[in-house]
Amino acid sequence: MKDNITHMVGTKECTKCGRNLPLSAFGKHRISKDGLAHRCKECARINAKKYRQTPAGIYNNIQGRSRFYKGRPLSISKEAFIEWYDSAPRTCVYCDVPEELLHKLGDTVNGRTRKLNIDRVVNAKGYAKGNLLLCCQRCNYIKSDFFTYEEMREIGQKYVKPRWIKESAKNAM
Ligand SMILES: [Zn+2]
Ligand SMILES: [Zn+2]
Repeated sequence: MKDNITHMVGTKECTKCGRNLPLSAFGKHRISKDGLAHRCKECARINAKKYRQTPAGIYNNIQGRSRFYKGRPLSISKEAFIEWYDSAPRTCVYCDVPEELLHKLGDTVNGRTRKLNIDRVVNAKGYAKGNLLLCCQRCNYIKSDFFTYEEMREIGQKYVKPRWIKESAKNAM
């Protein structure tokens, strides 16, 4: 298919940010009149980033990865996943650290992420209803595919929890 976009000159207004930008600032869009997206590339990127942080966006991400990596089957529906994600307590199931505290920790792993990770209780069962949990990145790293849920809960309670409690007390001063 020959496209006529490259032959056009001039500018176009982004429907999101309202800026008049060169046509090259817009991505291609098959069904729009001029063959270009309504939003500029920058707005589209911000929008995509925001979407990835929503439960539906997270689900799509997991879906993509589960197609790529074998052994990470996904059997939960998007609706059930969103319901679970929205109602899950915002603390790490292993060390109990609250999500809102993550960015305050001097921990180079947790301090960067700010968000709890989604993990599976039993890895082999994949992303299934009743097999999902939220945990901090630190615990997720430690657990990897090596420790079981029960073992990691023990480690989290015994070793990780006293660390973040101490760390957050230090930062509060
Ligand atoms: Zn824009
Ligand atoms: Zn943790």
